[in-house]
Amino acid sequence: MKNADPSRSPATPVRPYNFFGDYLIGKHGCRVLKIPIDAGFSCPNRDGTVGTEGCIFCAEDGSASPASDRRKSIGNQIDLVKRSFRRSDRGTRYIAYFQAFTNTYGTPEELRRAYDEAIAAEGIIGLMVGTRPDCLADPVLDLLASYRRDGFELWLEIGMQTMHDRSLLFLQRGHDHAATRDAARRASLRGIPVCMHIILGIPGESWSDMMETASELNALAVSGAKIHHLHVIRGTALAALYREGAAPPLSQKEYVSVLCDFLERLDPGIVIHRILGDREPSTLVAPLWGIHKGTVIKAVEDEFLRRGTAQGYLHRQS
Ligand code: SF4
Repeated sequence: MKNADPSRSPATPVRPYNFFGDYLIGKHGCRVLKIPIDAGFSCPNRDGTVGTEGCIFCAEDGSASPASDRRKSIGNQIDLVKRSFRRSDRGTRYIAYFQAFTNTYGTPEELRRAYDEAIAAEGIIGLMVGTRPDCLADPVLDLLASYRRDGFELWLEIGMQTMHDRSLLFLQRGHDHAATRDAARRASLRGIPVCMHIILGIPGESWSDMMETASELNALAVSGAKIHHLHVIRGTALAALYREGAAPPLSQKEYVSVLCDFLERLDPGIVIHRILGDREPSTLVAPLWGIHKGTVIKAVEDEFLRRGTAQGYLHRQS
């Protein structure tokens, strides 16, 4: 498998999965960092259009980064985050990442203004837009497709979570998997690279259920996957279920094992944007092992080493 990260010495083992950071360095020849943006959008699963309570795992901030402040302009947010990066900035490029809430929930004109403001900032070489599959009408996809050009890093991140409708119901997503399939198909027709957001460890899902979701990602021919464990955030409906014992989280050992199984079945060409949930420790209820990101990533690499496998090892058989 390709490992394009020149910062890794020849002695460094090749990463056992097709990591987004390596892909970016290989493609752009420099470090590329994502700048999270909260553009002030809402969500149809909160404002009453689809639902009022939101997904059971969603915090009040709609998955916003603590670095984002919706009271500030998009340009200001980008400047502030760039200044907060401690590492040398020289040569680093950035992707404007519309992360909080539903970033296609507006008219195409409103969306265009927000995206244009972001990509006008210095050093921005890409646009990543996180959203729900039922907020991707054709005019919105046409708008996103208009940002396609050589050397520009365009990504549409869709909250698929799982291919199983009963799990989507449990998560209170307010859409079914058919909506995801339809959005992915129409995005693909326009040549928009899609990254699917996936959750492993949804209560009630068996190992086979999760492996079916891996196969579905292959069938949908997506370009990327962002995978994380189900984590419980303070103040969410999931936190109440967790307290009642109705939503036991995976242990680190279980997650590492099922994640490796999942990645083994994925097409090796799918770029892996993330393998772990990321959350401010102060807002995290469980599982607490997720705080130690480096330890978990090392455990995943060690597990692949032990198995002698990598992403895609079982792809043709799945
Ligand atoms: S769709 Fe996204 S923003 Fe809306 S409630 Fe669910 S997780 Fe939160």
